[in-house]
Amino acid sequence: MEEELLNIFKESGALLEGHFLLTSGRHSGRYMQCAQVLQYPHLAARLVGELVRPFRDMGIETVIGPAMGGILVAHEAARALGVRALFTERENGVMRLRRGFKLTPQEKVLVVEDVITTGGSVREVIEEVRQSGALPLAVGVLVDRSGGRVDFGLPLTAAVELEIATYPAEDCPLCRQGLPCVKPGSRTPR
Ligand SMILES: [Zn+2]
Repeated sequence: MEEELLNIFKESGALLEGHFLLTSGRHSGRYMQCAQVLQYPHLAARLVGELVRPFRDMGIETVIGPAMGGILVAHEAARALGVRALFTERENGVMRLRRGFKLTPQEKVLVVEDVITTGGSVREVIEEVRQSGALPLAVGVLVDRSGGRVDFGLPLTAAVELEIATYPAEDCPLCRQGLPCVKPGSRTPR
């Protein structure tokens, strides 16, 4: 199943393979841009439908994710579970529920995100949910890039787990192979 889901990322162009220059200046053989797959609603529904499968019997009342990446995932997850979707945004650097969004005490909440690496945003969403008195029950992410190192203290499910190795520019095995290094997302010169 995970193989099949990974193929959806590849075929939609969300997971690129080659030789990439990252914004950090490091090089990598793979590049992930979740927005590329989420631009197709039927693929978003398919991926998130699988993602929420373990949460169907938990009595989830609301799904919440951090803007921007978590918005579409929360929306699709909420549709699949038949509940509502909320999102948090940063306000002066702090992750908050805005736009009149409210959680009620004891409300059962599923927290979602598109990709986690360190899990920082998800942790902040969990904190905001707790501040409101609601109950974060579990975390679901489309792509877990943490290598299993993230612990939210809640059950965590990922559609796919994917570690992407990166290399310093001056010590990159792909450079040594002579492969051209490209900046992902950069426009093709016209
Ligand atoms: Zn390189």
